[in-house]
Amino acid sequence: MITDTHSHLFWKDFDVDRAEVLARARANGVERMLVVGTDVTTSEAAWDLCQDEPGLYPTAGIHPHDALSIDEVGATDRIEELCRRDGCVAVGETGLDFFKEYSPREAQERAFRWHLQLARELSKPVIIHCREAHEATLAAVREFPGVRGVMHCYTMGPTELGHYLAAGLYISFSGIVTFPKSEDIRAAAIEVPLERLLVETDCPFLAPQGFRGKRNEPAYTRVVLEHIAEARGLEPVELAQVTSRNASELFGLEGR
Ligand SMILES: [Zn+2]
Repeated sequence: MITDTHSHLFWKDFDVDRAEVLARARANGVERMLVVGTDVTTSEAAWDLCQDEPGLYPTAGIHPHDALSIDEVGATDRIEELCRRDGCVAVGETGLDFFKEYSPREAQERAFRWHLQLARELSKPVIIHCREAHEATLAAVREFPGVRGVMHCYTMGPTELGHYLAAGLYISFSGIVTFPKSEDIRAAAIEVPLERLLVETDCPFLAPQGFRGKRNEPAYTRVVLEHIAEARGLEPVELAQVTSRNASELFGLEGR
């Protein structure tokens, strides 16, 4: 069994054929998918989507791109209420994106810390997005010792890796690791201790090599998994088991 630890299946791109997308995922062994909220509306949509579908698990949070929306009336109450629900498996996604900087850094930093605090308070893992913000991300994480979570869509190299591992975080790789130019990321994917490794799509974005430029979907988690397995000299089935077990442990999912 493969677990896609980061999908945005509520996205409008999936409205036309969501049932087929899920069927293709399962046909490829991707039986479990986290559906990651990015603001109040999509966190509610993620929750709703997961209610009638086995193997789908919702999260709730405000993406750094939308960090300013944390100031909207009722936003934090709404996210917190969703995160407190038993079925909600993680807080986020949150984090820092100084590359696109769609929200001011100050708002991103504030929203990130709010999520870290909530995750620790609820003893739920936090899903962290980090782009061109390594130092600031690490500084914030260190302010919340004991917080559990994952560096999602890891796009840094082995140099930065040790700091996140030392902070106790899991490391998740998306289709970016399959790109020929991603040598540094691949090196990190080889170095992560097996018990901290996760895989994801981040769909509908970031389709892996062979599907680039197309809509990404959970079935392609298999491509990411096979790529890392080959780089590490492991059988894909072995890596599927390990990463699914890791996902079960971090997010408290049922099954292995
Ligand atoms: Zn995402």
